[in-house]
Amino acid sequence: LLMAYDPARRLARLQVSLERAAVNARMVYEILDTVPHQRDKADAKELAFTNAAVELRDVRFRYPNGDEVLKGVSFVAEGGKTTALVGPSGAGKSTVISLIPRFYDPASGQILIDGQDIADVTKQSLRQGIAYVSQQPYLFEGSIRDNIRYGRIDATDAEVEDAARLAYAHEFILAQPQGYDTPVGENGMTLSGGQRQRLSIARALVRNAPILLLDEATSALDTESEAAVQKALDHAMDGRTVIVIAHRLSTVVNADKIIVMKDGSVVEEGTHVDLARRPDGLYARLHNLQGQSSEEQSPEGEAPEAPA
Ligand code: ATP
Repeated sequence: LLMAYDPARRLARLQVSLERAAVNARMVYEILDTVPHQRDKADAKELAFTNAAVELRDVRFRYPNGDEVLKGVSFVAEGGKTTALVGPSGAGKSTVISLIPRFYDPASGQILIDGQDIADVTKQSLRQGIAYVSQQPYLFEGSIRDNIRYGRIDATDAEVEDAARLAYAHEFILAQPQGYDTPVGENGMTLSGGQRQRLSIARALVRNAPILLLDEATSALDTESEAAVQKALDHAMDGRTVIVIAHRLSTVVNADKIIVMKDGSVVEEGTHVDLARRPDGLYARLHNLQGQSSEEQSPEGEAPEAPA
């Protein structure tokens, strides 16, 4: 697993100016890290997953160099359901996501998984239960097979291939010069945005974790890749507790619950139908904006209308 470290660290160094990209790369390797090198509480227990329900209780957080960015955030992401985080840029959505695998710890408040405070469990047991798919899928230096296997290092070749099939990646992998052994990463084969996304989804699938954290891509893919990525994501989301930073209208509309954030607080919560009924609400306003931009982004044209 050490191999997973250096490229990620190098990437983080290369992109110091791009704080967000660096954070994403760090999240990838932190989550993948199964070596408990970080301090756990002396009496830390193994996290026991049942429904994989996630609850934030009055969570406050500030980055070491900054203002308070989460100002008492509370919500429940029910087990096996999809919870969408929406809100303007800077609202704190990515920060919420980064606290769940304990990339950072809250200043106060609690995060519970199946009723267990994540501060009281081993990081290893916590992170083993979490998969993360980012906007900018990170490929490590190595073969395609290695890149999928980083999701779970003891996965067999058959498990890697099954995950690739579910992620709609198997066929394009077989079409590469050396199939699953084709090198990718900095010096390897160049893959399209949609192909990288599907590899990263295959990596999440092979991990088979009960919780999936998803930062939905904003960049437009061509229609064909978009459809393949969406089908791959549907498989990855199936039966899992999903917390998604949602940019696509269809994701938000289909979510079991929507959490609307603004300036570090939850300002509205409900289903699409609930929230669209509040014409003065932030969601309804974002929703109209999002309808316009998603029309630009998606050629198949998702209807932006709210139910009356
Ligand atoms: P976006 O939709 O733009 O991704 P977001 O809702 O995910 O926004 P966050 O990325 O969580 O919002 O950011 C919340 C606040 O925290 C912003 O003011 C941001 O500038 C700040 N912030 C984010 N990451 C860091 C960091 N690593 N160090 C310092 N401040 C940060």
